[in-house]
Amino acid sequence: MKSLHLNKGRESSLLRRHPWIFSGAIQRVAGKPQAGETISVIDASGKAIASAAYSPSSQIRARVWSFDTEEAIDEAFFKRRLEAAIKRRKRLLDDPQRSGCRIVYAESDELPGLIVDRYGDYLVCQFFFVGVEAWKSVIVSLLKDLFPCKGIYERSDAAVRSREGLEPMQGVLWGEEPPEIVQINEHGRLYGLSIAHGHKTGFYLDQFDNREIVRKLCEGKSVLNCFAYTGGFGVAALQGGATHVVNVDSSGSALEFARGNFARNGFNEEQYELITANVFDLLREYKSQGRVFEVIVLDPPKFAETKAQFKKAARAYKDIALQASALLSPGGLLVSFSCSGAIDLPLFQKITADAVLDAGRTGQIIHYLHQAQDHPVGLPFPESLYLKGLVSILD
Ligand code: SAH
Repeated sequence: MKSLHLNKGRESSLLRRHPWIFSGAIQRVAGKPQAGETISVIDASGKAIASAAYSPSSQIRARVWSFDTEEAIDEAFFKRRLEAAIKRRKRLLDDPQRSGCRIVYAESDELPGLIVDRYGDYLVCQFFFVGVEAWKSVIVSLLKDLFPCKGIYERSDAAVRSREGLEPMQGVLWGEEPPEIVQINEHGRLYGLSIAHGHKTGFYLDQFDNREIVRKLCEGKSVLNCFAYTGGFGVAALQGGATHVVNVDSSGSALEFARGNFARNGFNEEQYELITANVFDLLREYKSQGRVFEVIVLDPPKFAETKAQFKKAARAYKDIALQASALLSPGGLLVSFSCSGAIDLPLFQKITADAVLDAGRTGQIIHYLHQAQDHPVGLPFPESLYLKGLVSILD
């Protein structure tokens, strides 16, 4: 087998089962492997320690398939890994009130770069690494047998593909093309989503548990749902008995989709508003108007894509938390999130604390939130924890 030889001492993260091999860890690569080809990883003493897939274009030059050097990387290997991921989630997948669920979460399921989400009768895949790209047809063929469905669709259209030297790809991989709107059931809430045009694979499945927490906090409350997208938190708030929900997003088409989701759940137009606006501006406008809310949800897009953008992102998170704090009633709840991997929880908590203080308020954190359990964090792979949230009660 072709091989990748590590510099002295650079095997230590692999011994802790972290699956990434950065270019700087490599002494030499022998045998001219192709992109995606399986290679043997050899430490500086000459001992084989893992099998990996080679990625010549990426700074992450290889990602490990297996730490068992005897294990063949073949169809049976992918079958075992996919079966294990499905088995881990059996309880979630059997729940009729969870018809949207992530089935495979990349490195956390020991399938680097592969995402598989289930929306009712359809599976949606993302291939973000040349390793899984090389095995795409095998993976798709296994998935249709392991997880009976009407169709498998690809949404490998995110920018991360370019770091792997891969073009964006989108379309049917197997079976039927999904209808323009697919409906899922989440705790009795119905959400329509577009597999072809929605964000990510169509919906923010990672907020599953947090929408449920918001539902429970909203009884009798007026709610401002910022960065509302297709109304995920807004529908949950009304289901939980909110008196009124204002939903704000810069995308008018996302809000039109939200309108469909409110209707799907039997809510009428007196119970909610849809406002196409920039949240940063609208919060200031509401402040000048003296508007008050009892719950405010802030679920912005990833402000920091990379570590380099982290200062700018920290300022943006602080700004929205500060402006929102000024609109909350005494005893009001600030539900704030960050999905930027570059901003960790201690920093996010500090940003939020500073923002609340600068708004002239005090408060306590009553819930620490994170991504849903179908997006698990591999113990050797802490990078997979990206979604952080806080529920703070302001005095
Ligand atoms: N809370 C949603 C997901 C939010 S995704 C859910 O649970 O489904 C982030 C959303 O923020 C996107 O819909 C995007 O259109 C919107 N957005 C991005 N920047 C914005 C801005 N400055 N003002 C308003 N909306 C913005």
